[in-house]
Amino acid sequence: TNTSSSSLQQQPQGSSQSPEQQHSQPKKRTPQDFDFFETIGEGSYSSVTHAREKSTGKEFAIKILNKKHIIKEKKVKYVNVEKSVLNKIHNHPLIVRLFYTFQDSYSLYFVLDLAKNGDLLGYIRKMGSFDLECTKFYVAEIVTALEYLHKKNIIHRDLKPENILITENMHIKLTDFGTAKIIENDVDNGRANSFVGTAEYVSPELLNDKATCKSSDFWALGCIIYQLLAGRPPFKASNEYQTFQKIIKLEYELPDEIPDVAKDLIKKLLVEDPNHRIGSDTEEGGGYETLKSHPFFEGIEWKDIHLQTPPELK
Ligand code: ATP
Repeated sequence: TNTSSSSLQQQPQGSSQSPEQQHSQPKKRTPQDFDFFETIGEGSYSSVTHAREKSTGKEFAIKILNKKHIIKEKKVKYVNVEKSVLNKIHNHPLIVRLFYTFQDSYSLYFVLDLAKNGDLLGYIRKMGSFDLECTKFYVAEIVTALEYLHKKNIIHRDLKPENILITENMHIKLTDFGTAKIIENDVDNGRANSFVGTAEYVSPELLNDKATCKSSDFWALGCIIYQLLAGRPPFKASNEYQTFQKIIKLEYELPDEIPDVAKDLIKKLLVEDPNHRIGSDTEEGGGYETLKSHPFFEGIEWKDIHLQTPPELK
């Protein structure tokens, strides 16, 4: 049976800035409402296309998922999770927004915010690494997006530079919610699950106990801060098994090019016990307030960071 069609009905996003606001009765979009341009990216079971809505001229990224392929590859669950998580995030400036979904006989269409400048990994490759000022700014944006997600009881679980898109204005848009988890209740939090994210950013608790929690995103954050400053992630080996061994043993080195203030924050994030990681919602972790007060973020104006002019990449 086509499980995707029943669960993937259109749910227009009603918010103050929605293009649908102009219509008292939201109109269901169809592929004919858009001009499709070049393919921007390919995933394992989707392709992302640059598109423009004919009636408004507004540009979007449309993710097109092949229904047959999703069902064959047993990815219906991931697609539904991606949609339900995106629908829970109403309108955050640093998180990719889902504007409309619709389908035809072959495909599902997710109409998303367009991020014109690719992803953070592309910039790390281009720049080699970032200086402290740029790292600070982009990490502060990631923390802002994470704080919002965690407040909504969403764990991203696959935080990595590839999933941090960069807009035309050089701000971030966090994406890829197919493997996110909505914590429904306390019992659910930290329970065993079979999902493993991307090897280099996987937390020790996932490898040891098959459990993830909000704090697992802080582990990945520590890996990203390291990578932005050093140009490579802290745990990297020739294969996944070796990478996992290094993670379990907490085997990483802090190169001299990482400034001391960043070293200190990385050390407080790459901690084995998730409850002891800085930012974790525990006595030891101190919550977001403690994380955002770390000297690494000195000079960051947290309020309306998405409206500030990002530092020039260096
Ligand atoms: P997989 O699930 O196979 O790991 P993925 O999650 O990377 O793939 P998609 O979400 O389908 O796959 O995205 C594919 C690529 O398209 C991304 O790597 C990114 O480069 C680009 N892309 C995705 N969403 C957007 C967007 N909103 N704006 C601009 N580019 C995007």
